[in-house]
Amino acid sequence: MEPKNSTNNQGFKGFTNDACPFLPCHAGVKREFNCLFCYCPLIAYECPGPYEVFTDANGLTRKDCTACTLPHDGYQASWAFIQQWLAKPVVWNGHPQHERYMRKARLKPEQMPGPTEDSEG
Ligand code: SF4
Repeated sequence: MEPKNSTNNQGFKGFTNDACPFLPCHAGVKREFNCLFCYCPLIAYECPGPYEVFTDANGLTRKDCTACTLPHDGYQASWAFIQQWLAKPVVWNGHPQHERYMRKARLKPEQMPGPTEDSEG
């Protein structure tokens, strides 16, 4: 195996599962559809995605991420987005998404504010 710091292969940053019957599962993805984060690593943490909140059958508050394309829009961009927000994860307390993030969700992933430059509780 090639050491991480000496390879130019970026294959670990994403892939598209063309055999998946649900593809494309999120509307609005403009670049390569990244399936790597099908189960978003930010589901239990603060994030800038346009999620809706619902209560599941067990009474737990959860995110409905149907409208979010951030973990899927381009291999490089979605990889960078997830790495940035996982660098200093903050546990999500079940609050609805802030309105300003709902508005910003229409931006491209590389235009999104990072957790250190635009965080709020
Ligand atoms: S809203 Fe987007 S970024 Fe946030 S947890 Fe859901 S899929 Fe991930």
